[in-house]
Amino acid sequence: MKTVFVRQDRCVGCRHCEIACAVEHSESKDLFQVFTEEKPSHPRIHVESVDNYLSFPNRCRHCDPAPCMQVCPTRALSRDEATGSVLVSYTRCIQCSVCAMACPFGIITFQQVRQLESDREVNAKCDNCIGRLSENRIPACAEACKTGALEFGDVNDLIKETRADLTMRLIRSQGSDIQGPAMPDNIRAYKAVMETIANL
Ligand code: SF4
Ligand code: SF4
Repeated sequence: MKTVFVRQDRCVGCRHCEIACAVEHSESKDLFQVFTEEKPSHPRIHVESVDNYLSFPNRCRHCDPAPCMQVCPTRALSRDEATGSVLVSYTRCIQCSVCAMACPFGIITFQQVRQLESDREVNAKCDNCIGRLSENRIPACAEACKTGALEFGDVNDLIKETRADLTMRLIRSQGSDIQGPAMPDNIRAYKAVMETIANL
């Protein structure tokens, strides 16, 4: 199973992923035109920042089974079997918002979408960049993230990296000087500056 895996400790809150998502779902797919389109495209990934500028890029997990799909009364949500992505039929969405109430991650937002002629705001959730996946390209958010906070790949391979990192940290906490993969200097420096500012 392939997914976009989040490494929270690497997120610096730059929001490049949000911009890439909005551009990808726009009509022009052009950064300089996206804000002037009749129905501007909004991101479907949400970077939330809390104390000390710690941030978390929150994105649809394309759960299986998916609570949003289970509660939708009009079957507006369905799964693409080839990629496992949970998709929305905008014409079927009746704006009841029960999907948003059921989603444990709070990622569903309602927006106008260019695919509808009317101005109704419908469930405009992440579609996993399904068009890109069919072209063997990775989702736009993962491509845009330059710190490795969003990585696309086989979930078990990505979890294995996390497990190796945790093991290394545990061993080091016991006093060993074993060296493992370190946070790149530029990310560490950026986080240190932001933490200093937050503590002023
Ligand atoms: S692009 Fe990466 S580092 Fe920047 S906000 Fe998004 S997840 Fe965080
Ligand atoms: S919208 Fe929420 S409940 Fe539905 S698949 Fe995505 S994360 Fe899961």
